This record gives sequence, structure tokens and C-alpha cells, in this order.
Amino acid sequence: MSSAALTVTGAVLDGESVGLRCVDGTIAALGPEVVPEPGDEKIEAAGAPLVTPLLNGHTHAAMSLFRGYGGDLPLMRWLREVIWPIEAKLEAEDVYWGARLACLEMIRTGTTRFWDMYWHPGATAQAVTDSGLRATIGGPLFDADGKTEAMQAMALDNLDELGGFGPRIGAALAPHSIYTVSEGLLRWAAEQAGERRLPVHIHLSETDQEVEDCLAEHGVRPAVYLDRLGVLNERTILAHGVWLDQEELALIAARGCTVVTNPVANMKLAVGGVFPYPAAREAGVAVGLGTDGAGSNDSLDLLADLKLFALAQRHASSDPTVVPAAEAWGIASGGARLEVGEPADFLLLRTASPELSLGELYSDLVYAASGSIVDTTVVGGEVLMRGGEVPGAREVVARALERSRRLGIGA
Ligand SMILES: [Zn+2]
Repeated sequence: MSSAALTVTGAVLDGESVGLRCVDGTIAALGPEVVPEPGDEKIEAAGAPLVTPLLNGHTHAAMSLFRGYGGDLPLMRWLREVIWPIEAKLEAEDVYWGARLACLEMIRTGTTRFWDMYWHPGATAQAVTDSGLRATIGGPLFDADGKTEAMQAMALDNLDELGGFGPRIGAALAPHSIYTVSEGLLRWAAEQAGERRLPVHIHLSETDQEVEDCLAEHGVRPAVYLDRLGVLNERTILAHGVWLDQEELALIAARGCTVVTNPVANMKLAVGGVFPYPAAREAGVAVGLGTDGAGSNDSLDLLADLKLFALAQRHASSDPTVVPAAEAWGIASGGARLEVGEPADFLLLRTASPELSLGELYSDLVYAASGSIVDTTVVGGEVLMRGGEVPGAREVVARALERSRRLGIGA
């Protein structure tokens, strides 16, 4: 797929024409003087803006198979009548092609890293590997059916399998939520994650019902409950956090967890609230952005969701200064930096595009652009898309369609 070295020339970074040389997956040189060395793979960027890629902090990649199906139903009917019956028939091959479809969309729209929670996590890891992206993946833990031991055994198998992939795949423990996972299994997941120094990735406070039920059952709010079970630390990813209160935000900040907000999924499911970003920032909480699964978004275009994030925050707080564009971009790119020594992951955006040619870059990126602005996607010095073309895209779409038909979706 790549030679050991790749050199980009004529890209625009902070208003300056620069070159960027990647060696063995790392940025080896960056600046106006950088030129290709003999034998390098070359890209002449012709004035294309050079930016960091995006990090999708919460998704269920293979659910792209369920895109556009049953989405007008209320949540519980959608789950019971559409999703769960299909998931009962899922095979690893379905998950593989669903995740390949998701990866294709992410490559096209500038996302190079994501956090995933789904069945057959090894199939997702294989899809990510074959697509050239990076992901931290966990098989979901559920024991609402009382089968706790079987779930523990499956989780350990999943961790073993995920550990066999290369450095682009990270493993996580992924207890689904406090309302589908028992106290015992949550504690177990926290212990396993602690012993193995792995992250825990969990849905938290997506609906106000979850908060009410937690108060009724445990006498405390969801974040306090999770902390009591040892789940909260600097490796913990909390997806949603729509209904976190001030005390929970202070606790989450003190423990060093990251909250990943999924504004489009929240709006589509009509949860009735907005993640309290201003209070979270004030408390010092690390914040990320996610799409959630394509079954409930239905897009994986994180750049499109970034606009919705910024608009929702401005609207909900009646304050247009609440999230400056550069800060919003920093959240979507997960703190990635274009510097020598960093992984050679970057995007080249379309040259002379109407969306980006006038005005300030970050403002244009957040409010004018969508993922279609991405021309070239590079991960670890490997070119995954050039000129909007991803090799093999047609086959991925065809195979995903085949698998979704096999599952009876849309039939
Ligand atoms: Zn989710």
C-alpha cells in the first residue's frame, strides 16, 4: 500500500506553503523547506489546506448495515421491532462488511480514528485493519438476561482476539450501560480494565429516564454510581452525558474521564436535552465528539456533526461565544497535532473550494464545510484516499448491501 516514505509538497498550513515528509508512519519533517528524497512516494498538494484528521469518539461501526431503516420509530419500538431481531441473526461476516462500509465513509469524510462498541469485535478490528484506520474496540457487555458468567468468558475471549491485531487496534472493556449491565459485571469490568490498563467505554446519562431509574434503584446519580463501582478513571470514555449535573461533572473531571457528546444521535432520538458543554468545560472535563452508530444518526460524517454540536451548544446556552470554532475543531480532532514525531495522520482538503476559500479556516470548517471537503486521507503515512477516490470502494458497498439483504433489512 505504501513505500516507507511519503512526501507531500505544496500544502497550506497556517497560511504558509509547506512540505511534509513521513517516514515509517511518523511525521519526520514539516515546513516550507521540506522536499522529497529519492524513492519517496510523492503528493503535490497544489495549495490544498493541510489539517489534522478527526476522531469519532463513540460509534458502533457495523450498524451502518441498519442505516435508513426504521428510523422514524420511537426508540423502544425501533430496538424491539427492528434492531434486536436483526442482531439476533448477525454473523462475524456481517459485522466485517458493515464495519468496512463505515470505515469507507470515515475515510471519505476525514475520520481516521474511532471508538467502537459492537458484537464480533474481532471482525470490526479486521475491517479497520484492512481499511487502514485506527480504532479502540470493545465487545459490548450485557447481562440483563442474567448470563453474567457467559458474558465474562466472551469478554475475555474478545480481549485475547483484539490483542492479536497490530498497533492500530486498541482493546477496551465496553459495558453497554448502567441499565443493561449488573452491578457485579460493572465491577468486574472495572477490575479487568484496571489489571490490564485498558479503557472502559460505556454509555452514560443518555436519557433522563436513566437518571431517574438510577436514583430510584441506587439512591445516587449515574456518574456517582459508576464511581462507587470503580469505573471512573483517566482511561474511561463516557458516551452522551446529556443529563450530568454539576456534582457529576466535577467528579468526572477529578477522575480524568472523557465525555463524548453525540449531538446528532441525541437529536434524532429526541432525548430532550443537550450535553452541558459550558459547565463541563468550566469543571475541566475532557470532551470528545462522536456520531454514535449509523443506525441512529444516520451518518458517520463527523464534520457535519461538528456543526450540529456547535449550533446546539450556542442555541441551548443563548450564547454565541460558548464554543469558538477553533476549540470545536480541537474537540473533533481529539487533540491531534501536526508536528514532527507525531503519527503521520493528516488530511488534505479540496483546493480552491467555495466552502473554504474565503474567511477563517476553522470557522469555515465548522460552519461551511462537510466531510465532502476532504480530498486526501493519510494514516501512518499510507494514502487511503486521494482525489476523493478510495481504492476498492465499489466492492465494499456491494458486499455490505449483500450482507444487509441477507439479514432481511429493507426486504
Ligand atoms: Zn452508542
